[in-house]
Amino acid sequence: MADGSRRAVLVLIDGARCDVLRELLGRGDLPNLARWVIEPGGLTTGTTVFPSTTGVAYIPFLFGRYPGSVDIPGIRWLDRRGAAGSWREQWRAARSYCGVQGGWLNRDIAPAPSLFDLVPESIAICTPLTRGLRSGGNRLTFRRAALGAAAHYVGTYPALDRAVAGAWLDAAAESWRFMFVVFPGVDGISHLKDPFHPAVLESYRLVDRALGAFVARVRKERELPAFFVVSDHGMTVMRDHADPAVMLEADGVPTLRHPVHVWRRGARVATMVSGNASVQLYFDPRSGREHPLTESAIPTAILERLLALPAVRVAACRGDAGGIVVRTQGGRARLTESSGLISYQPESGDPLGLGGHVELDDRDLLARTRKTDLPDAPRQLLQLFQSRRAGDLVLAAAPGVDFRGPWEIPEHRAGHGSLIAEHMEVPIAASVALPDSPIRTVDLMPMVLERLDVTVPSGVVLDGVPFSNIVAATEPLVR
Ligand SMILES: [Zn+2]
Repeated sequence: MADGSRRAVLVLIDGARCDVLRELLGRGDLPNLARWVIEPGGLTTGTTVFPSTTGVAYIPFLFGRYPGSVDIPGIRWLDRRGAAGSWREQWRAARSYCGVQGGWLNRDIAPAPSLFDLVPESIAICTPLTRGLRSGGNRLTFRRAALGAAAHYVGTYPALDRAVAGAWLDAAAESWRFMFVVFPGVDGISHLKDPFHPAVLESYRLVDRALGAFVARVRKERELPAFFVVSDHGMTVMRDHADPAVMLEADGVPTLRHPVHVWRRGARVATMVSGNASVQLYFDPRSGREHPLTESAIPTAILERLLALPAVRVAACRGDAGGIVVRTQGGRARLTESSGLISYQPESGDPLGLGGHVELDDRDLLARTRKTDLPDAPRQLLQLFQSRRAGDLVLAAAPGVDFRGPWEIPEHRAGHGSLIAEHMEVPIAASVALPDSPIRTVDLMPMVLERLDVTVPSGVVLDGVPFSNIVAATEPLVR
C-alpha cells in the first residue's frame, strides 16, 4: 500500500501518567483507546527526554531529535552572550517559553525538518511547535490555549480540551495525511490539583470520547489512520519547593532568575528552571563569556551547597577532559561516548544507581537503566550537554520536590521536569505493533514516517529509529 493513501494521527495527552492510563483502561473507562488503538496494536511504557517538560518534550515527536540535538536545553535557558548586553538584550537572553517569548521556541530550534515539513498535508491542533506547518494547518493555537491565561489561571481546561476535540472532529473530513492533536487538560489540571484528582481522570475520559467521535466520523468513508497516543512526561505531587535562587540569594549570591529578576544587578549566577523539577545554572552571567564552564571552573562552595540539598537527586556538568561528570553528595561518575558505546564509570559511590562500571550500546543501556530510578539518564545527560546553550551545571530533583518557590502563581501542586522515573516514563499506545524492547518518544517520528511511506531525505539525521528496526535489532517479536 505504498500509494500515499496512508494516514496517521498522533494524539498527545500532555502530562498523562502510565499508571493512571492503565488503571482507567482496566476499569473500562477508556473504551475507544482500548478498541481502536491498543487492541490492534499495543500499549507500552516509553521514556521521554530531559528536561521532561512541555514544549521541550514535544521536540522528539515532531523533529525525531533530542532537545539538545537541536539546541533547546530547556523551557528556560540563558543566552550567555546576550546576558551581558543592554537591558533589552538581557531580557531577551533570559529565555522563557512560558510567557511572551513562547513563540520563539520555533525559531530557536536549530535547522532541521519537522514532521510537518516532511508531510506537508498536516493539521495540528493546539501545539506550541508549529514549524513547517503550511498556512491553515495550525488550528486552535497553543498560545491562546495554554499560555493565554484563562485556562492556566482560572482552570478552564475542560473547555479548552472540548475545543480541541471539536477542532479535531471538524478537521476529520478534510484532506490530510498527518494530524497532531494536543490535549493540555491532564497536565494543566494536575499542576493545580494532583495527578490522580477526579477532574484529571475526567480529562483522560474526555480524550477517549473525542477519539471515539473522531473514529466514528472517519471510518464511514475511509480506512482508519494509524493512531499513536502518547504523553510528553509524567507528573508527581510536589510536597516541597526548594528554590536554589532563594537559597543562593540568602547566602549573599545575587541570582538572575525569572520572572522579575532577569535584570539582577551584579548577578553571579543565573538559575533557569524547567518543569519545575530541573534547573540549569550559569555562572558569571554578565561576563559575556560564551563557552560553558567545565567541572573545575564551577565554584566548589556553591556546588557542594547544592549537592547537600535533599531536593537534589543528581547533578551533572561537563568534564574537564570531555564527557559528563555526574554528582551526588557522596558520589561521582563519568559518562563518555565513543564508537557507539556509552561508558558509565563511577569514581566514588554510584550516582546513577547502575551498580558499577557499565559500557553498553545505546539501546542496551536504555534497557539496563529502565530498572533504575533514573531511566535513560546516561543518554539524556549526554544529549542535553550537546547544546552549548545548556547550563554550566544541571540539577534533577528528587521525588516530591521542585526548584521553584511557593510564590509561583498559580502554585504548582504537582510537576515534572526531572530525570526520575515518574517524570521520564510515559505511555505509548499505537494501533500498530510495538516492540517488546524499550522505546523512547524520539522513536515515534521515524515510525510515523514509515507508516506514511515518507522517506527521510538523505542528509537528515534523526535520533530515533522506527519500531521495526528496534524489533529487528533485538529479538524476534512473538505475540
Ligand atoms: Zn507537558
